[in-house]
Amino acid sequence: MPSSELTGHPDEVDSARAGSVRLDHVTHRYGRGGEAFTAVGPVDLTVPAGQFLVLVGASGCGKSTLLRLIAGFERPTDGSVRVSGAEPRPGGTAGVVFQTPRLFPWRTVRGNVDLALRYAGVPRAQWPGRRAELLARVGLEGTEERRVWEISGGQQQRVAIARALAAENPLLLLDEPFAALDALTRERLQQDVRRVTDRTGRTTVFVTHSADEAVFLGSRIVVLTRSPGTVALDLPITLPRGDIDAEELRGSREFAELRARVSHAVKAAAAA
Ligand code: ADP
Ligand code: MG
Repeated sequence: MPSSELTGHPDEVDSARAGSVRLDHVTHRYGRGGEAFTAVGPVDLTVPAGQFLVLVGASGCGKSTLLRLIAGFERPTDGSVRVSGAEPRPGGTAGVVFQTPRLFPWRTVRGNVDLALRYAGVPRAQWPGRRAELLARVGLEGTEERRVWEISGGQQQRVAIARALAAENPLLLLDEPFAALDALTRERLQQDVRRVTDRTGRTTVFVTHSADEAVFLGSRIVVLTRSPGTVALDLPITLPRGDIDAEELRGSREFAELRARVSHAVKAAAAA
């Protein structure tokens, strides 16, 4: 593997490739004039196509702001954001999963996934096949006719992930999607997201404040300082990917060392 795939150094990365992300001197402020509050920046960050980047940092350091900038929901106050070499368009550039699944609770699982397929412009004749494939990918076979309000929080987050995958965008953005779930469900979903993104080769930017989650998921971890968030640590993660035994990986010494290192960096960055 060339070093660029680990480090994402801007000079070594083809930032026009589908799914690549490039932030140049990005700063974001909320409010104007004397009331202005700088939430992030300056941040320089290049994510090569196919990388699984995890952004870690204390609450309020600007993680969600960064993700919204990459999704195109916000424009940076200064600097530039490029996805696949172009300015991101809200809804058009990336599949996004939020902490609380944004679904239509009175609709069925099928209805929710079909809406995403409709927005993605998938021809109606292809919906049944694509829907079955998406639901299988997130472990929701057989739930098509259930209403969203009657399935569990973990299942709802799976529907949200299926919806985010529906558009087949080369970029997937997830903002603390498992924070509200119980530990067992969270570990299952972490495994599924790792597997899905490994298989599909999508670029993924995942936000969390958990060092354990970051080390399990990421092929690269960026720790942010406290607000205004800047890059405090940029760490390639070389743990095995693909078909792995999650228990074995979590129990390994390498995993424990990385987790301790990231956890320490998050605390140091938050206190600095
Ligand atoms: P994180 O996701 O890391 O917890 P956020 O990106 O949500 O951090 O927020 C970073 C900082 O910007 C926080 O201090 C937050 O209060 C502030 N902030 C976030 N969104 C807004 C907004 N729409 N208007 C004003 N301030 C905001
Ligand atoms: Mg947040």
